[in-house]
Amino acid sequence: MMHSVRDYAPALKRGELLGYHCQSCGREWLTSLNVCPFCSSSKIEDVSLPKKGKILAYTFQNVVPEQLQSKAPYVIAVIELTDKSRIQARIEDYMPSMGNIIGREVGILRGDESGLVFRLS
Ligand SMILES: [Zn+2]
Repeated sequence: MMHSVRDYAPALKRGELLGYHCQSCGREWLTSLNVCPFCSSSKIEDVSLPKKGKILAYTFQNVVPEQLQSKAPYVIAVIELTDKSRIQARIEDYMPSMGNIIGREVGILRGDESGLVFRLS
């Protein structure tokens, strides 16, 4: 049985990043969808996604949700996980002195309904 969006936060608390795997093209992704976003196949199964990856691109977020005001501005990054699937997450421990962080390795720190949080490793 497929997991739903409601299963995502409790799984993260157990340290598991729930995702989907397409049996037709072999790609994986995070968001709950009924068909594969790459090949439109409906042969989809649950998987646990890798919890490490590297930063492909990032930007600074200045306008942020109410509950994250104290952390603004923060970094939002597109991360390529070790299985090549791509996700978007907030980067917790970025410092301006680090300069360009494209290509840096990151690991999952936590996540909840508001999104995923990764840190530089
Ligand atoms: Zn597919």
